[in-house]
Amino acid sequence: MFKFIKVLFLILTLVSLLYGREEKRSMLNILIITGGHDFEASFYEIFDSFEHIQYDTISQPEANQAMMFNQVGKYDVLVFYDMWQHITEQEKVGFLNLLEKGRGIVFLHHSLASYQNWAEYKNIIGGKYVLKESDDQVSAGSTYKHDLILHVKIADTTHAVTDGLKDFQIKDEGYKGIEILPSVQPLLTVSHTDCAEYVAWAHKYQNSKIVYILLGHDHHAYQEESYRKLIQNAIFWVAGKSI
Ligand SMILES: [Zn+2]
Repeated sequence: MFKFIKVLFLILTLVSLLYGREEKRSMLNILIITGGHDFEASFYEIFDSFEHIQYDTISQPEANQAMMFNQVGKYDVLVFYDMWQHITEQEKVGFLNLLEKGRGIVFLHHSLASYQNWAEYKNIIGGKYVLKESDDQVSAGSTYKHDLILHVKIADTTHAVTDGLKDFQIKDEGYKGIEILPSVQPLLTVSHTDCAEYVAWAHKYQNSKIVYILLGHDHHAYQEESYRKLIQNAIFWVAGKSI
């Protein structure tokens, strides 16, 4: 009897150890960065729905300061949902240092229009939404249109970011006339006169994995299961982890 209890105790200890280790391994810490563009508060419900992702939030300009002072080390992934223009030379160095270290980054929606006058930002995110009032004379400017019905197709069915996803429909804002680097890897495409063909891409900068997702203006996108799945997959992929 005593031996049986001892064995049972040993099994329970092993199970709890394995379970604990599993929990620790699969839980990701992310930092969500906002500022410079309004959005509906239900945006955070996307992240509340993720079982293995815990998040903190920060807005600009505090986020750029935190990166500059190396205070974001505990986060596996940074998620940018900001649209911010001001960045100091020191803050740029802080940003670039994170990419040198290989920190994973997911950029969402209007973050494509950040830092119009910092040329390197386009190389980091993989493209640019050109604001008409910017100094960039190359393009006439990008345009946006709300409440489009977009039929989203999976461009790369073998990529971890599209794993488990099927073609889906979403009511969302589209961007047109954006710049996209030829080196990005398209993940999702649409065919719509008011939207760019690529609505999500994977990219690499220095040692960091990057994903940009054009979609995500408001609750129509936030509530879409495929959109949530896409963000979750993207977070795990840029972190170098599997779900
Ligand atoms: Zn928008």
